Amino acid sequence: MKIRVYQLAKELGVPSKQLVEELKKLGVDIVSYQSTVDEETADLLRELLKAEPLQVAESGKESKVESTEEETVTAEAGKSEKELAPKRPPVVTVMGHVDHGKTTLLDAIRRTRVAEREVGGITQSIGASVVNYKGQKIVFIDTPGHEAFTEMRARGAMVTDIVVLVVAADEGVMPQTIEALNHAKAAGVAIIVALNKMDRPGANPDRVMNQLAAMGLIPESWGGDTIYVPVSAIKGEGIEDLLEAIILIADLLDLRGDPEAPLKAYVIESRLDKGKGPLATVVVREGTLRVGDFVVVGTTYGKIRAMFDDKGDPISSAGPSMPAEIMGIQDVPEAGTLVQRVDSLEEAERIAKSNSDLQRDKQQKTRKEFSLEEILSSSEEEKPVLNLILKADTAGSLEAVQNALLKLEKGEVDMNIIHAGVGAISDGDVILAEASKALIVGFNVRPVGKTNKLIEEKGIKVLTYRIIYDLVDDMANLLKGLVKPKE
Ligand code: GDP
Repeated sequence: MKIRVYQLAKELGVPSKQLVEELKKLGVDIVSYQSTVDEETADLLRELLKAEPLQVAESGKESKVESTEEETVTAEAGKSEKELAPKRPPVVTVMGHVDHGKTTLLDAIRRTRVAEREVGGITQSIGASVVNYKGQKIVFIDTPGHEAFTEMRARGAMVTDIVVLVVAADEGVMPQTIEALNHAKAAGVAIIVALNKMDRPGANPDRVMNQLAAMGLIPESWGGDTIYVPVSAIKGEGIEDLLEAIILIADLLDLRGDPEAPLKAYVIESRLDKGKGPLATVVVREGTLRVGDFVVVGTTYGKIRAMFDDKGDPISSAGPSMPAEIMGIQDVPEAGTLVQRVDSLEEAERIAKSNSDLQRDKQQKTRKEFSLEEILSSSEEEKPVLNLILKADTAGSLEAVQNALLKLEKGEVDMNIIHAGVGAISDGDVILAEASKALIVGFNVRPVGKTNKLIEEKGIKVLTYRIIYDLVDDMANLLKGLVKPKE
């Protein structure tokens, strides 16, 4: 009888990641936590881990891991288990092509929660929902789509841990599916695929798996580590399986957040309420936000007079991963703004004012383009990386350009095509370029009218070509680190 690594991990009470490491040390050839091991190996591990229990500091209790060997496993992030912060719930964003069922899926997920509460009635959405599944919490960002997601990332606000990529099983992969996938990849978040509309007669999940496998999302049933969950959002089928998959991945990611750490929270939505004044929904990353706190929210500030959870009920505090709508700030902040706690209202006012001065200065000097140096120095690798977003007029020309670029000999610089797509250069491309410090290259395409404005605002470098040799030549020179791109 074979057993999956994560099942064994659960049985032994250790994180899957740790078990994968253990297996690798034993020289067992496994791909991921989804891989199976045979009875013999499982028994060996049971023996090993029983003999030298590897402790997991769940409750913050002192765990006495005996010196040496185990340290290499537990000290991965340079911390020993007892220093690790408590686990926090995963924060999930739903993405996918238009009409593939993102909104319907979110509704179906929220319905499970409403049923749980046995309460009817509509509460105003605060921009995030908390779902309780088998005693574990999952936080869903209510605004689906990759543009909002990447816009937040461009501001340095990473709140999402897991992306659910929705693909209609009858229609298959579409342009925005690829876009969403590339946005998620560029952000480095975990991806789960929801194969939606399984109730439709034309549903063909195998075709979708084939299409996405070609883009790197290899299904676990084929030996990869991407989970595909068939669902019908409209019928509410498969929702529990999806939640189960999210919990599994969250476990594997070993998400942690320290409620005692200095506060780090981000605005995900804001609005002006006639009675309550400016309201902002924030998601806490670290620390704990409390009623009575003095906060700076970008260029605005205030004392938190009240906080509400996703059901609209008043709460007094919100810890890691939790969303809360806050009341008491002076103005309506932008999504992506960092929320900081300070000691007094005077200090909050002073910092907010200095933030707003800074912002004004910045706006006065119209944003200069990202220089090539900035693009190249953005990578943390030793070798600089040229991030490219490629857009072309047809699938054929896109492929031709990609193939030609792949043949280029790498010089002092590595090339990384973070997104390639057919069609005009769009706002989404610009936002992705900003967040990933990328150069946009268009072949036989240009930015559409309003996108030109955004390009200017964000200072993104865009090069367009009509002749493939020119394009390839320029890129070759860039890779050699020789030539600055023409203006
Ligand atoms: P979004 O643009 O991705 O948010 O897609 P929507 O959630 O608005 O769904 C688009 C259309 O697909 C709507 O007419 C939905 O009723 C329909 N739809 C969504 N999920 C399903 C499903 O599981 N099965 C079927 N048959 N239709 C669905």
